Amino acid sequence: MLRSSLLYLSRQQRIFDFVKNVDFARKMASRFVAGETVSTALEAVAQLNAKGITASLDLLGESVFSEAEARETGRQYLEILDRIAERKLQANVSVKLTALGQDISDALGVEVVREVLERAKQYNSFVRLDMESSAYTDRTLDTFEQHLYPDFPANVGVVLQSALRRTLDDVDRANALKCRVRICKGAYLEPERVAFPDKADVDRNYVAAMHRLMEHGNYPGIATHDEVIINEAKRFAKERGIATDRFEFQMLYGVRRDLQEQLVRDGYRMRVYVPFGSQWYPYLMRRLAERPANIAFMAGNIVKESLHR
Ligand SMILES: Cc1cc2nc3c(=O)[nH]c(=O)nc-3n(C[C@H](O)[C@H](O)[C@H](O)COP(=O)(O)OP(=O)(O)OC[C@H]3O[C@@H](n4cnc5c(N)ncnc54)[C@H](O)[C@@H]3O)c2cc1C
Repeated sequence: MLRSSLLYLSRQQRIFDFVKNVDFARKMASRFVAGETVSTALEAVAQLNAKGITASLDLLGESVFSEAEARETGRQYLEILDRIAERKLQANVSVKLTALGQDISDALGVEVVREVLERAKQYNSFVRLDMESSAYTDRTLDTFEQHLYPDFPANVGVVLQSALRRTLDDVDRANALKCRVRICKGAYLEPERVAFPDKADVDRNYVAAMHRLMEHGNYPGIATHDEVIINEAKRFAKERGIATDRFEFQMLYGVRRDLQEQLVRDGYRMRVYVPFGSQWYPYLMRRLAERPANIAFMAGNIVKESLHR
């Protein structure tokens, strides 16, 4: 109930217009978002790199409604790739096709993302296409397979969500292509028709997808903070003789930092997804929806910090 309310609120632009200037909300956001500018985000990446953690930078922003906005987002991604290379940081980027114009037309989204991919290719870097709600699954996978992957096989990958009933088929399709996949549970509220309503099924489907990707896929990204699943990945890798450099764990900026560092100490690869930018509100609301206890946790921290000032 709370989760669906938070997800509903995440889509309300008017509420964002109100909270974006509220100091308390901005402080909550700073736990999960690495500032509003490229410079603050790159600084966060440098700090992660110093701990042996790689990153994927995400310029926050969802669907855009004009071609100019889509092209501007594409331009900003080119700048991010340039600056990552300039500073020799261990980082790639994650993009949402809707932020690059997919909702205006598939052709525009393809054109803009291909420019980003050309630049990534120059630097031998990588662009992950984040997965949005199930309304976009087919469009995103089709665009990937037909217009992006054939020309940029080493520079582009997709995301699959274990919440969706279709996902094991998509895993097999990806494994046949030998493309790189990030597997996650899925952050969107989906109808039962397409998604498992029970968390136990989402988790079971995650493990099944993860096994197939680890065994037959191409360098999967295991994106989760779920320790049971992480332990299963480690166990499975040992059992099947899968070397630790054939996959990576991925987590979100500000979530389970203890576990991120522990995995690196244990010899595993760890990448942190680093979102930044002024459009932080829908992202923050999705993170709070995943773990509503965060609201109390962060409010408590903010109060503590202000008392100690
Ligand atoms: C690198 C990365 C990329 C992602 N990309 C996408 C994407 O492209 N599309 C998409 O739909 N979703 C994406 N997600 C989000 C994902 O789908 C889940 O919503 C999110 O990761 C929470 O699920 P979980 O696997 O951690 O498991 P859960 O079962 O939700 O959580 C397991 C445990 O992790 C901890 N935890 C989880 N979330 C939080 C949090 N917000 N704050 C504090 N603790 C928490 C808690 O201890 C919890 O008990 C991504 C996640 C990651 C890590």
